[in-house]
Amino acid sequence: MTLPMMTPLVKVDGLHKSYGPLIPVLKGLDIEMKPGERLVVIGPSGGGKSTLLRVMMGLEKIDSGSITFGGKPYISSDGYDRKTLIDNSVRRSIGMVFQHYTLFPHLNVVQNLILAPCKVRGDKKADAIERAQSLLKRFGLDAKANAYPAQLSGGQKQRVAIARALMLDPKLMLFDEVTSALDPELVGEVEQVILQLAKQDMPMMIVTHDMWFAKNIASRVIFCAGGLVVEDGPPEQVLGSPKEERTKDFIDRVF
Ligand code: ADP
Ligand code: MG
Repeated sequence: MTLPMMTPLVKVDGLHKSYGPLIPVLKGLDIEMKPGERLVVIGPSGGGKSTLLRVMMGLEKIDSGSITFGGKPYISSDGYDRKTLIDNSVRRSIGMVFQHYTLFPHLNVVQNLILAPCKVRGDKKADAIERAQSLLKRFGLDAKANAYPAQLSGGQKQRVAIARALMLDPKLMLFDEVTSALDPELVGEVEQVILQLAKQDMPMMIVTHDMWFAKNIASRVIFCAGGLVVEDGPPEQVLGSPKEERTKDFIDRVF
């Protein structure tokens, strides 16, 4: 997508989201992400990081606020009857990978990859298979094309989940703690795949607690706590010498 330099890829404005009347989670979040940026989101557990990504993916309703994508309205709230309005064509251009593997267990790797392109977009099966095989090759998974998820390691499953999201040619990728459930020796292979995507200028939002990864992948870091953006800046600043006391406390404790 070619955008004029100043148009943000994503603009989140005054986003409010509660779970029921009692659990406010996002309390007026403002985020602006430029094209080509890789935004790492850090913050305390329960602070609403996953909620933000799920909202971005159209998986959660919002209470108020709005999100634009490429300068066009994407998600908004109809204040009158509290309906969340969403542009589904934009939603389909966003890919997400979750902490826990979300592969379909009864489908093999290639079948997992081609399901959405064939069902949602109407791609020809032969074309989808060809693209799946080339993605698997790129991720070092060609030997696993016919394996079922249960036959894969955690790291392989996450790499397949990333490949599956890429099958729909996303314009933005969301990664929610994709290595948190992995054995330490499997973390690197998944991070390398994401770093490879970063080299190809894939815009991404990444929630991670891995300091090495955060430093190496981020073009910008935001620290979210209490449902608000507390600090926002280049990785050297937010991770290296944070200005806000709350950011500093968090980084000292977690990293
Ligand atoms: P994070 O990813 O930063 O750890 P989450 O977005 O998962 O935070 O959660 C933010 C808060 O919202 C937490 O207090 C969590 O318990 C609550 N929450 C998350 N999902 C739900 C849900 N489906 N129903 C009710 N409360 C939820
Ligand atoms: Mg989370």
